[in-house]
Amino acid sequence: MNNSIRFLTILGSTGSIGDSTLDVVHRHPDRFKILALTAHNNVKKMLAQCNQFKPQFAVMLDPASAEQLREAIRLTKLDTVVLSGVESLEKVASLPEVDVVMAAIVGAAGIRPTFAAAQAGKLVLLANKETLVMAGRIFMDVVKKHHAILLPIDSEHNAIHQSLPQDFKGNLAEKGIKRILLTASGGPFRTLSRDLLTHVTPEQACAHPNWDMGRKISVDSATMMNKGLEVIEAHWLFNAPPENIQVVIHPQSVIHSMVEYVDGSVLAQLGNPDMRTPIAHAMGYPERIDSGVTSLNMFDVKHLDFEPPDFERFPCLRLAYQALEMGDNMPAVLNAANEVAVASFLDEKLPFTSIPVMIEHVMQNVAQQTIHSLSDVLEADSIARETAGNWLAALN
Ligand code: NAD
Ligand code: MG
Repeated sequence: MNNSIRFLTILGSTGSIGDSTLDVVHRHPDRFKILALTAHNNVKKMLAQCNQFKPQFAVMLDPASAEQLREAIRLTKLDTVVLSGVESLEKVASLPEVDVVMAAIVGAAGIRPTFAAAQAGKLVLLANKETLVMAGRIFMDVVKKHHAILLPIDSEHNAIHQSLPQDFKGNLAEKGIKRILLTASGGPFRTLSRDLLTHVTPEQACAHPNWDMGRKISVDSATMMNKGLEVIEAHWLFNAPPENIQVVIHPQSVIHSMVEYVDGSVLAQLGNPDMRTPIAHAMGYPERIDSGVTSLNMFDVKHLDFEPPDFERFPCLRLAYQALEMGDNMPAVLNAANEVAVASFLDEKLPFTSIPVMIEHVMQNVAQQTIHSLSDVLEADSIARETAGNWLAALN
């Protein structure tokens, strides 16, 4: 790793995490330089980011969008090379000049470039939790084998990382750790009755009380699948058995998670709910750098409340624990079914309360199979999507 300046690739630079990452980069021109930016198809935003950060490469997944961007770049004085396709995402995640890869693509689409970054031994800042959910064991093996460094961006996992001993190597008992307390805001429908949940709209689901995020993760927060995915993520990151991961509803989102030790101590990380804190923590690691986040004012916060999770109103959380217990391809199947269900809900083709119904159906109808490789994971993903699509077609 270059000591003076770190060269970055941001996978998913036009998204919510991408924005926050670029904000932190902008605050530290002496520490970070953007080598590559990537996005799906938002040409306008990518062009603005290229103008501001002057990357060597810009990748649009969509070839037509790449062509538009290339044309627009031709009219500027920039010498950014525009590429397209998944292979190009993998390429810019693994270039020798790159030190750090921010993995912030949403969903299963992030898996191949995130793997490429780990295979190239990069410092991988992981926002794309779906990679760990789908392929936890093999991804952790790849990280280890290629001496990549993995730092969690998800605020809860970043908080856990900060609350663990610095020399933690994946053995909870050895370090006197009893359990992980994974906090959850409870989402916008925390207090809504089961009946009222049936009628909620995508706009209501995306209006998160504490965090400003992309639409998919916002719906996941509303169903609490996000917390389910995070339980699986915590399992792989910290080698924690599911029974040692307790979800705690904490509506203020000020405590971002906690670690309980055998002596009764509970260590927590607190702060305003702003993703620039975990991003700056991971980007500067092990140094602390300014993130632009305002100080936490305890006098404004006043209360910190806690509740147990409700598995009846939020069955997605139960399904995620179940997929983790089952293991093999099941977390990948859960993740794929969830992505199809969330997209259908956002398209107003599926009621909110049918999201877990569809996921459960898919989990019951895809055969459990051992995962040996990334292609096994991708196959599980595509079979689950097909099963979900058939269920949806039969419904309409
Ligand atoms: P977002 O929807 O705002 O942004 C997604 C980014 O991925 C965009 O740049 C988009 O162009 C790109 N993208 C989408 N589909 C793609 C595809 N098929 N191929 C290549 N690129 C594609 O999402 P977000 O809220 O920034 O979330 C990104 C990831 O970070 C997710 O995995 C999410 O779970 C995780 N995360 C987000 C937050 C948050 O506060 N937003 C917090 C914790 C974790
Ligand atoms: Mg989170």
